[in-house]
Amino acid sequence: MKYVSTRGEMPKIDFKDTVFEGLAPDGGLIVPERIPRLSEKEIEELRKLNYQELALKIFKYYISDIEEKDLKELIEKAYKTFRAKDITPVVKVGDIYILELFHGPTWAFKDIALQFLGVLFEKLLLETEKKINILGATSGDTGSAAIYGVRGKKNIAIFILHPYKKVSEVQALMMTTVTDSNIYNIAIEGTFDDCQAIVKSLFMDLEFKRKYRLTTVNSINWARIMSQMVYYFWVYFRVSEKENCESVRISVPTGNFGDIFAGYLTKLMLGKKRIERLILATNENDILCRFVNKGDYSLREVRPTISPSMDIQVASNFERYLYYFYNEDSKKTKEIMEKFAKEKAIKFSEEEVKRVQKDFLSASINQEETLETIKEFYKETGYILDPHTAVGVKAGLKFKDKYPLICLATAHPAKFPETVSKALGFSIKLPEEIEKLYKLPQRVEILPMDVEKVKTFISEKAI
Ligand SMILES: *Cc1c(COP(=O)(O)O)cnc(C)c1O
Repeated sequence: MKYVSTRGEMPKIDFKDTVFEGLAPDGGLIVPERIPRLSEKEIEELRKLNYQELALKIFKYYISDIEEKDLKELIEKAYKTFRAKDITPVVKVGDIYILELFHGPTWAFKDIALQFLGVLFEKLLLETEKKINILGATSGDTGSAAIYGVRGKKNIAIFILHPYKKVSEVQALMMTTVTDSNIYNIAIEGTFDDCQAIVKSLFMDLEFKRKYRLTTVNSINWARIMSQMVYYFWVYFRVSEKENCESVRISVPTGNFGDIFAGYLTKLMLGKKRIERLILATNENDILCRFVNKGDYSLREVRPTISPSMDIQVASNFERYLYYFYNEDSKKTKEIMEKFAKEKAIKFSEEEVKRVQKDFLSASINQEETLETIKEFYKETGYILDPHTAVGVKAGLKFKDKYPLICLATAHPAKFPETVSKALGFSIKLPEEIEKLYKLPQRVEILPMDVEKVKTFISEKAI
C-alpha cells in the first residue's frame, strides 16, 4: 500500500514514511491510496480472530513495508500493557452495548493508538539509527497517553507541556509519576493555550526544530487512525453475533474527528451497511454536529466544558473525510480547505447534506444533559459513565431504533472523579491503580510562561 496526500501534490510514499510525518508537504493530510473493500469471505475470516490477530490482519491491508512477523511482535508488545484480556471488551448495559476503550495504562481510548505508535517509533528509529525528541502540549488525555506510549523506549525523549494546576489531579498524576529518564513533564504557569503557543513557536523555529529533531504525536498521524479501526471491526463482530443481525449503529464522542473517522473507514471496508450509521456526538462545541445536520461548518469560539477532550472547533481529521466524500477528488478538497482557511466557514448544499446523512447522524449534548445522563444511566443500570462517554450515550439514545446501539466508552469515570461525583451525588471509588498514583514520587519541571526558558530546558535535556 502506498500513501498520497488529500491535496494530491505529494509523490506516493510508503507506510514507514507516514509514521513521523504530520502534514503532507502540500499542506494536505496523508491517506492510503485506496481503501480495500472486503469480500464476504474475508469478513467471515476476520470474525474468528482475537484482538491482536485482528489487528495484524487489518494492519496488513495498510502496511506492506514491515514484515508480518515484526508487525505481529509490535502488536503483542503494544497491547501487553492493557488490563483486559480482550483489550477492548464489549459489555451489554440495559439494552445498549458499551465498547470499553479505557483499559490501557492511562484509562482513556488514546492508549490504543499511542501504545502501538510508541513501539512502532522505537522499531523504526532502531532501524535507521535516528533519535527524536517529541514535543507536545496537552490539556490532559493525549499527553499522558503519549508519555506512557514512549516511556523507557530507546532513542526517544518526550517533552510534554501542561498548564500548571489546570488539568485534573488524576490527569496530572498520570503524567508526573512517570519518572523514566526519557520523560520530561513541564508544568507551565499559564493556560493550555499558552502551552500550545510555546510549542507552536518552538516548531516554527526551524533551526531549533532541526537541531533537536522535534517530532509531534498529533491526532492526524495515519498510524493512529489505523490502530483505531481495529476495535470497530471487533465490536461489529461481537454485537452482530450476539444479536444475530447484519447491521449496527455506533455512537462516538467526537472532538478531532479521529476516532469516528476510523469508524467511517471501517464502514467503507465492511460495506453493505453493516455499520448502518455512525452517530457523531459532540458537546457544546458543535461545529461537526452543525455540519451533519445543516451543512454549516463554521468556526466559533472554543467553549470549555466538563468533557474537555472534546473541546475542539477545527477538527483536524475533517479534511480526510471530505476527500472521500468527494470521491478522492484532491482538487476539490484543496479548494474547499483553502476557502475554509480564509473564510473560517464552509456551507454545504442540501444535496450534499443528504449524502452526509447517509453515513452519519448527529446530536450536540450540553453539560446539563451530560450530568443528567450520568445520573440517570447509573440509576437505571448501575453503570457509571465518564462525561465524554455520557455525551455519546445520550446522543445514541436520541436515535435509538431497530438497530442494536453501540456506544464507545472513551474514558474511565475515575479519570474525571470531580465531575462524575457531582453528577451522582456521591464520591466514586477510584481503582486501586489510580489510588496508588497519589503515593508515587513525581518529577515535573515548573516553568514560567516563557518560550526562552522552555527552549533552554529542552536544549539541556534533549537526546
Ligand atoms: C480524544 C478524546 C475524544 C475525542 O476523540 P477524537 O478522535 O478527537 O474525535 C473523546 N473522548 C476522550 C476521553 C478523548 O480523550
